[in-house]
Amino acid sequence: MAKFSENNPLVYTVRNLCKVCYTCVRECPVKAIKIINGQAEVITERCIACGNCVMVCSQNAKVYFRSIDLVKDIIRSEHKAIACIAPSFPAEFIDIPDHKILVGMIRKLGFDVVTEVSFGADLVGKEYVKIFDNPDTGSVITSDCPAIVNYIKYYHPDLVKSLAPISSPAMAMAEVVREKYGQDSKVVFIGPCIAKKAESDCIDEVLTFTELREMFEKENITPDLAEGSDFDPPASGKGAFFPVNHGLLKSVNKFEGIGKGEVITAEGKSKFMEAIRNFEDDILSNQHLELLCCDGCIHGPGMTKRGSQFVKRKKIGEYVTKKLTGLNINDWERDINIFSSISLERSFSQVDQRISEPSREKIEEVLISMGRTSATDMLNCGACGYETCEDHAIAVVEGLAETEMCLPYAIEKLHESINELNNSNRKLADTRKALMQSEKLASMGQVSAGIAHELNNPLGIITLYSSILKDEVDKESQVYEDISIIDEQAERCRNIVGGLLNFARKNQVKLQECNIIDFVEHSIKSLIKPENISVHFMHDLYDPIIKIDTDQMMQVLTNLQRNAVEAMSDGGQLTIELKQKEGKMIINIIDTGVGIPSRNIEKIFTPFFTTKDLGKGTGLGLPLAYGIVKMHKGKISVRSNDNPEKGPTGTMFTISIPHIKE
Ligand code: ADP
Ligand code: MG
Repeated sequence: MAKFSENNPLVYTVRNLCKVCYTCVRECPVKAIKIINGQAEVITERCIACGNCVMVCSQNAKVYFRSIDLVKDIIRSEHKAIACIAPSFPAEFIDIPDHKILVGMIRKLGFDVVTEVSFGADLVGKEYVKIFDNPDTGSVITSDCPAIVNYIKYYHPDLVKSLAPISSPAMAMAEVVREKYGQDSKVVFIGPCIAKKAESDCIDEVLTFTELREMFEKENITPDLAEGSDFDPPASGKGAFFPVNHGLLKSVNKFEGIGKGEVITAEGKSKFMEAIRNFEDDILSNQHLELLCCDGCIHGPGMTKRGSQFVKRKKIGEYVTKKLTGLNINDWERDINIFSSISLERSFSQVDQRISEPSREKIEEVLISMGRTSATDMLNCGACGYETCEDHAIAVVEGLAETEMCLPYAIEKLHESINELNNSNRKLADTRKALMQSEKLASMGQVSAGIAHELNNPLGIITLYSSILKDEVDKESQVYEDISIIDEQAERCRNIVGGLLNFARKNQVKLQECNIIDFVEHSIKSLIKPENISVHFMHDLYDPIIKIDTDQMMQVLTNLQRNAVEAMSDGGQLTIELKQKEGKMIINIIDTGVGIPSRNIEKIFTPFFTTKDLGKGTGLGLPLAYGIVKMHKGKISVRSNDNPEKGPTGTMFTISIPHIKE
């Protein structure tokens, strides 16, 4: 029906309800659902209105056009409003066991006439018998299910010629009631079907059973308030059986006998599609196809979810049996004769919606982008809504799907992001630790600088007065010796104060060009070490010229080398490595000594931290090295193992300073 278009779709998505679970993609038999911007949208021109998506959406995000207001307009109009009820009604209104009450309730809504569509089914059934009895008729496909008709028009247009050129029971009934109650009457079909809403212009409006219940509810029409009355004529016969007999033809065949050929019935999306494929491939020659899109009309999307299929079938059976018992055959035959003059002819046109399959290269490209490169990668898990990875890739090329719909791919991406996040978390934690350490050292530096500054003057005075005193006393005397000790210790204090000032970075660097290889060699030469320690110097530099404060850097090297020697009291090997990396000069000082316990690692750059005996260590060597390296805008770090069970013990200090040339 022309009233449905892209702007006024029959089936559509309520955007904010869609949680993009892909269930509708999976259940849509014709891939008429497209994932755009994380939303499952219905492609109107591809949709056959089977209503599968409406039934499977747990979020009620797939809905269909509601006709209640239009039906109310009809009731209010001056036209006669005629309700035609589909034969599946006993399966829906299990809660209203007496059909007369239901008829009364429908009348209470304002309908002038309430009839049964199954009289239309009786007429149509007769028409099918005529076709089958005609020896010139080839195999036909029934055309009573509007979703199947759409499916054939859109996706198997070559089979349009095989569709039985006969009106559906509802269309036939619309003609009957117009003939009987006046051509300007308005006909409202009430049934379990959504596709019916777009089947034919001869039906004015279509309500689903769900909508009918909504109307009852809104207008407070309850069974106890309704006045029971029977359906208006014409009364139907065996056509009422068709919702339980696997379709119209089976009903006709059962009661009338079909001239030639077999009737194959297929209900539900996978079965009807397979049957059509086989029919197309001539596997089902000389056989008629009775196809229903849903698992029978009693499972249509316009039914509310009440009752099991067996209860539904039983209810219809009971109703029809009762009805046939009370049927006046003469009246029925008279009516059939009266209305057999109505034309039930119908024609169909092709509306080809097939998409030609994309090229192999394009499909491969998408598969590769989803990480599906080999046969074992094709998990075909179906999570995306497509049966195979290949089908998904094809849909991506056709613009119907997105690669992100692939669950294994999304999980893989998630894992990658988690790893990245973990890495940056770890880096962040390391940086935080380093920052805390350097903040601690900076504040210690400030205190140290203050103390050193204050001590410098009194120390100068002590040294000055002790040398005056020394000049005044006899060099051989005990006093002279005592003053010398004061002098020596004062000198020691001055050295410590000097070290503190260096740590506090109160001094400036005087950069001067030097050849770092010569520089390190010189430091090694001046190193005092026992025989049992060997020294190795390795360098891998393309440019040994660098600008550093040579005096201060020499102190750094000397301190680190001395520490290394002191850690190897039983002998070992001291290795000094020079490397160049990304604009940095790297100096590694490696020893095979006792190593530093991990509990001490954080303390070693703190002024006065020493593990050495009193008088042997001041705990200022590393703080000084730290200060000087910082002044060179560099970094000093340490790696150490003190546990022989974990491997050879030893320590490596790494200094990294910018390779400045200018
Ligand atoms: P000092 O050498 O005066 O003790 P440092 O600041 O030079 O002071 O070193 C601080 C402490 O760090 C040392 O007492 C020692 O415990 C530890 N240390 C430094 N270098 C090494 C090394 N190469 N091997 C083992 N321990 C070391
Ligand atoms: Mg030291």
